[in-house]
Amino acid sequence: MKQTTTEKELVRYSLNEEQEKREILRRYRALLRTLRPKFKKGDKEIVRHAFYMAAEAHKTMRRKSGEPYIFHPISVAMICVEEIGLGVRSTICALLHDTVEDTDISIEDITREFGNEIARIVDGLTKISTVVDASTTQQTENFKKILLTLTDDPRVILIKLADRLHNMRTLDWMKPEKQLKIASETVWVYAPLAHRMGLYNIKTELEDLSMKYLEKEKYKEIARKLAETRRERTRFINEFIKPIKDKLLSAGFNFEIYGRPKSIHSIWNKMKKKGVTFEEVYDLFAIRVILDSEPEKEKEECWKVYSIVTDSYAPAPERLRDWLSNPKSNGYEALHTTVMGPKGKWVEVQIRTKRMNEIAEKGLAAHWKYKEGTSTEDRFDKWFGQIREMISSQGTDSIDFLEDFKTSFLAEEIYAYTPKGDIKMLPKGSTALDFAFSIHSAVGQKCIGAKVNHKLVPISHILRSGDQVEIITSNKQKPSEDWLNLVVTAKAKNRIKDALKEEKRAIGEDGKYTLKRKLENLGVPVSTYNVDELVSFYGLTSHLDLYYSIAIKKIDLKELKTFSVNGDRLEPPKIEVKSDKPVYNPDAKTLNKKDSELIIFGESSDKIMYTLANCCHPIPGDDVFGFVSVGKGLIIHRTNCPNAAQLMANQGHRIVKTKWAKNKEISFLTGIEIIGVDDVGVINKITNVISGELKINISALSIESREGLFNGRLKIFVHDKEELDTLVDHLKKLDGIQGVERFDAEDLQ
Ligand code: MN
Repeated sequence: MKQTTTEKELVRYSLNEEQEKREILRRYRALLRTLRPKFKKGDKEIVRHAFYMAAEAHKTMRRKSGEPYIFHPISVAMICVEEIGLGVRSTICALLHDTVEDTDISIEDITREFGNEIARIVDGLTKISTVVDASTTQQTENFKKILLTLTDDPRVILIKLADRLHNMRTLDWMKPEKQLKIASETVWVYAPLAHRMGLYNIKTELEDLSMKYLEKEKYKEIARKLAETRRERTRFINEFIKPIKDKLLSAGFNFEIYGRPKSIHSIWNKMKKKGVTFEEVYDLFAIRVILDSEPEKEKEECWKVYSIVTDSYAPAPERLRDWLSNPKSNGYEALHTTVMGPKGKWVEVQIRTKRMNEIAEKGLAAHWKYKEGTSTEDRFDKWFGQIREMISSQGTDSIDFLEDFKTSFLAEEIYAYTPKGDIKMLPKGSTALDFAFSIHSAVGQKCIGAKVNHKLVPISHILRSGDQVEIITSNKQKPSEDWLNLVVTAKAKNRIKDALKEEKRAIGEDGKYTLKRKLENLGVPVSTYNVDELVSFYGLTSHLDLYYSIAIKKIDLKELKTFSVNGDRLEPPKIEVKSDKPVYNPDAKTLNKKDSELIIFGESSDKIMYTLANCCHPIPGDDVFGFVSVGKGLIIHRTNCPNAAQLMANQGHRIVKTKWAKNKEISFLTGIEIIGVDDVGVINKITNVISGELKINISALSIESREGLFNGRLKIFVHDKEELDTLVDHLKKLDGIQGVERFDAEDLQ
């Protein structure tokens, strides 16, 4: 019996059987209608065969919502066709995607009925699904597998994204802990992947849906405020569009123009990043002009539109983005500019053709449709090639893998030129050193600096799009440990690690020789057994570590005297283990997941060892979860902690649900940041509210003021979130205060 079957709840087909059957058929026919334009002879029969096979196999299963299970594969297939633009074969795979994992159907059955191509894709999808609840390393291994299948056939990942999107759309039916885990995994892995595949709409929806579960309150608040301000926004958009529309019409363009508000997730990101309120960002939106252009006139006409737009509104020259001449490597093409609109508001205008728009929305699949753009296909090939290289490069540490992958392949990109004019695409944040390694590892290892646009810069210099970079090398140069902090690309990191290891190995040779002599004196050989004993005795991780530590005299082998010899073998000295503290056992009864409603600071709290996370400093009242650590017991994090997504996605099995009990005795240190107009007595007013009116203890206070504004950071002791919220409210009401935000910086203590 496979694990997941029980989760999906086997329920006997019972109520409204007839109605349900009709509904299933209705949905299936809707799918056929959408797919019809893509049918070639015989296709319809194969799709029908796949549908009946899946429907029969899932017959007794239900979704958590109680619906027949087959609704899910049908919806996934629909997303593939409608929202990603995939075709007949992908539809068949989508219909069958859960059969091998959850039902009696085997991959051999699929091969026999549908052939190798489809079986391979379904097999890829099945393998990805087994990622659920594995340990970190296994999960990373599985992620590697996802990527290998991706480079094999990108349809696997596209269908997987459709599957994830439908699961996110129906996440309400899952248990809260599951929701958190799935939502974190989605923002952590799937949304960036969708972005990388050029599926902007799906990426945005995945992010919004994740936020709905990870940041419930904020999500609701922003959604509500967006709805409230819709009318005002529409009025502004219409006013902005009018003059442009008139000019485009009289110039004879065939076009569409509309305004698009930002997604909830991106508004929230902006609020956090810039420390501003909803009111300061809600009216940020993009105006999109979509042209119906002949292929050979695309570029010319986009620039014409640009000139019309900037005739009406003044552009900010530094905000012009030309992805017409240099498309992003996920295929995105467009012209972006930011102009000064009515009432002195900055407005972003995106200009693209219908073809470019389809690529922007449907990504990779649309590329297949427009085969002519070979340069873009080359980019994809290059990208897949780099992934393959990274996965196969030896010594890639599994635990770092996901992190490296994300920074190397999923981040936004910049492009820089070699002196000869060759383009190098690099992730944002790449340094001169990354650039050097992207040319060749020999160039990277000898790099001592660079000339960027003819100016001399250090190897740590962060590059920007359009930079021309000339690497300067020296034969005396060699990589050092701190170089690892100067690069972001996986390639550079791996090459530096390799070089460091090589050097360590060379030095280690001396240590090995020293060890050999000492062991010979004791009359035992340098056998794997003996070296292992020493490695574990000194608490090291490898033979090389031991040799190296001996060579650099970190270990002097004096302790060898305490060993005894038994034939050919070294025996470590026996040490009495004394421990009065019970060792924390994460599997202990107290953390039984079944009754995972843990109470912190309640009657049962004395049984559980816990600490409050240093990264987010939770206080009672915050939404929190517990992370079972080895040694430190339960660590309490806020669900919106910057580290939460990573923890939940990678180590979900260690997450337990936790809740606060009322407690008024203990107070907790937290921080608030106040921004306002600098005027005399402002500090007095603030401290009056805090310690005078509300009787809250201030632990530290620092004020910086510049150009008439002040920025105050306070560390205060509060009992719970309610008290903190009251304080923030009171402070916001003071004259001249522009913003009050909680901060959870690591520098709190
Ligand atoms: Mn599924």
